[in-house]
Amino acid sequence: MDSVLSPLELTAREAPDGPVAIARPHRVRAAAEWFLANFPGETFYAVKANPSEWVLEALWGAGVRSFDVASDNEAALVARKFPAAQLAFMHPVKSRRAIGRAFHDFGVKTFALDSEDELNKILAETGFAKDLTLVVRFAVSGDGAAYPLTRKFGVTPEEAPSLLRKTRQASEEMLGVSFHVGSQCMRTDAYRTAMDGVNRAIVEAGVLVDVVDVGGGFPAIYPGMTPPPMIEYANSIKQGFEEMFVAQNAKLWAEPGRALVAEAGSTVTRVELRKGDALYLNDGAFGTLFDATHLNWAFPAKLLREKPSRAKLAPFRLYGPTCDSMDAAAGPFMLPADIQEGDLIEIGSLGAYGTAMGTRFNGFGETVTIESKDAPWPSMYGEATAKVVAMPKRRRATTKKPKPV
Ligand SMILES: *Cc1c(COP(=O)(O)O)cnc(C)c1O
Repeated sequence: MDSVLSPLELTAREAPDGPVAIARPHRVRAAAEWFLANFPGETFYAVKANPSEWVLEALWGAGVRSFDVASDNEAALVARKFPAAQLAFMHPVKSRRAIGRAFHDFGVKTFALDSEDELNKILAETGFAKDLTLVVRFAVSGDGAAYPLTRKFGVTPEEAPSLLRKTRQASEEMLGVSFHVGSQCMRTDAYRTAMDGVNRAIVEAGVLVDVVDVGGGFPAIYPGMTPPPMIEYANSIKQGFEEMFVAQNAKLWAEPGRALVAEAGSTVTRVELRKGDALYLNDGAFGTLFDATHLNWAFPAKLLREKPSRAKLAPFRLYGPTCDSMDAAAGPFMLPADIQEGDLIEIGSLGAYGTAMGTRFNGFGETVTIESKDAPWPSMYGEATAKVVAMPKRRRATTKKPKPV
């Protein structure tokens, strides 16, 4: 790959008619190295955020060995590529066949659940295996998140103690707890608040917990959404973990998706027509711009021209190529006022939930991927990372069932 070529030059060289996904594996590596060095536990990459080969390879190259998969197909993808990977199947509702396939064919031993029925499915489909890590998923507040994920999954605080006890009885190996504070979580204390709630249920249930999995939700930078420094999330989680009544040697896990890949991808899209402040593009809601359209998130956008425009910035709306009227992003996206048909726009920070969400609706969606070595958008992983708070000694812990370390 040429390091000297810009996304504009790279796109011109390939000259595809559809949109171009720009891949920046060096940004995946930087994010992964940050998590491996600073997150005080184990980092599982949430594969659904971006399952591209170049992403998986960059993560593996950086040293990530654990992956959170949401389906048996994601398990197959990772297990075939990296037979030594540790896989956790963290979708709380799985088909029986998916559970069996993940366990028997791809060596998955870790499964999430949020109901007794799902617990029974997992036990039955794994042949009552003795070496499972069963993780009870809690419903927690999504208040701090730009994209709440709390409505669909998770055991309620009232039901949690009983499910914890039942799962502990069934699990001869490890019992875990997990939650998801919602995606793009802007509040560092959201994790700690969630951990407090989970801890209350653990105390009420009187069970020994071996794994605390704080899920995903770690944020990326988007226009109008500048999160606190990532180290503050790590420090807050560290403190929350210390206050939990869990096994002395309990493990701390996280499942970042967005935070590991958002900065690493962007899309170069072409203006097919301009009508006033409306730009009709060759990519949209059913391509890599799901969040820009359906959630109306602002993504950084810039005009790519050999000779930069000197026109003032003006607000634009974007329309995708399909006939669906939902295929529109109100923005406003600030772009030079002289933008015209044939111009290329790069929309940044699309590495998470961009290409991963694309469809072939209306016959569009064929995306060429080109690797680039530049880093044009703001980063969560610059030098400005605050001091790491040292892990204090655990004060107290339940000791009902001590485990050999
Ligand atoms: C989607 C998801 C993640 C990743 O979430 P991000 O907000 O992208 O970090 C992690 N864990 C589970 C269970 C998920 O469903």
